[in-house]
Amino acid sequence: MNACIFCRIIEGDAPGEIVYRDDLVTAFRDIHPVAPVHVLIVPNQHFTSLNDVKSEDEALAGRMILVARKLAEREGIHKSGYRLIVNTGSHGGQVIPHLHLHLIGGQRMRHPMG
Ligand code: AMP
Ligand code: ZN
Repeated sequence: MNACIFCRIIEGDAPGEIVYRDDLVTAFRDIHPVAPVHVLIVPNQHFTSLNDVKSEDEALAGRMILVARKLAEREGIHKSGYRLIVNTGSHGGQVIPHLHLHLIGGQRMRHPMG
């Protein structure tokens, strides 16, 4: 079995509240939401972090951001505003080693970056 929890969610081998899926990305709700809306947009293919994304993956990188925008609209937070975060590596605070884009909204963000 795949050791990566996000790969397992994408493959349907682990539970996840999937809200979107296409040929390149899957999105599911964060298990420990930090705001009323907290969705993770992840590539269907395993990338350990943003550091693994190459120029030939430009379509994937673009898709992740456009899906975040689409889901912000679907979740009704596109007008109030939202935050997109890609934690990368140890200093970036990355915990799960499968690239993911956090879509967070539904409240005014309290924590300043850094
Ligand atoms: P990061 O610190 O950027 O690696 O964030 C990892 C995120 O994944 C955290 O916000 C966790 O709450 C979330 N997470 C961890 N395990 C799961 C899971 N099984 N299903 C959904 N979200 C998860
Ligand atoms: Zn993975």
